[in-house]
Amino acid sequence: MIPPIANRFVAGESIAEALEVAAAQNQTGLSVILNQLGEHYDDPAAAASDRDDYIRMIRDIDAMELDACISVKPTQLGLDLGEDVFRGHLDAILDVAADHDTFVWIDMEDHKTTDATIEAYEETVQAHDGQVGVCLQANLRRTSDDLERLAPLPGKLRLVKGAYKEPKAISYRKRSRVDQAYRDLIKQAFEQCDGGIAMGTHDDAMLELAAKLHEEHGTPYEVQMLMGVREELQRELAENVEMYQYIPFGDKWLSYFYRRLMERKENLLFGLRAVIGR
Ligand code: FAD
Repeated sequence: MIPPIANRFVAGESIAEALEVAAAQNQTGLSVILNQLGEHYDDPAAAASDRDDYIRMIRDIDAMELDACISVKPTQLGLDLGEDVFRGHLDAILDVAADHDTFVWIDMEDHKTTDATIEAYEETVQAHDGQVGVCLQANLRRTSDDLERLAPLPGKLRLVKGAYKEPKAISYRKRSRVDQAYRDLIKQAFEQCDGGIAMGTHDDAMLELAAKLHEEHGTPYEVQMLMGVREELQRELAENVEMYQYIPFGDKWLSYFYRRLMERKENLLFGLRAVIGR
């Protein structure tokens, strides 16, 4: 069982707990994206087990009539073991998702996985009627080209600033430069995308820009934010825009929880207060 202080950012260890949180968030007007925590598996059994869990989850989402989709990580589905392993597991998930009309997101990991992730998206999105999305990271210098290549496809693109520290030669490191690249990508996406755009950010300035561009271009978009981050704002936004909460869960919650605590002073204070009981 996860300790109560981690409950703010992680939905629990089991699929049942995650589905319960998803149902509760649906009740408050939020759609949800479920992600089982796990990455960089070097054991084939671990990748196959997560594939099976996602498949079970898709069936449960349908049976419970939840407003929910899933998000998978390529290295969780075995990319480190071979591209064929990843693609086999992804295809198995997508086939079941198609039967249950469930949208599947592919998270973007570090730069060593970018090509394989983008190729998997390109090759599956047409066959699955646009029911697939992929994440693109503004901190990578290549991303504007990737966006141009993917924009005509029917799926959705999730734009984020980027969570991985990448080599200087291929990435922007300064926060202000990443913000600039993110703004440029948002503008490019609203001009070029045929499918939908998802804004994966908690940044007011970026959300204002997206709302303005939506008015101008009419391109459909949604907002996605993490569980436990700016939840009041999430509910406010849900009144005017499609709003998804990204809900991580699973027994590998500790490092994810640690990252959330360390990324902002307020989160760290929240953790400390919970520990000392004030
Ligand atoms: P930041 O620059 O971190 O924050 C901007 C502003 O937002 C802050 O100044 C503040 O006003 C507000 N803010 C941010 N956090 C908080 C908080 N905790 N409390 C209050 N205000 C806050 N990255 C990947 O590399 N690959 C992925 O697949 C991926 N998927 C993601 C999916 C979702 C749904 C989200 C939300 C993020 C994802 N990310 C992913 C992470 C992303 O790349 C960023 O690291 C993360 O979102 C932080 O960037 P930000 O845009 O919120 O801006």
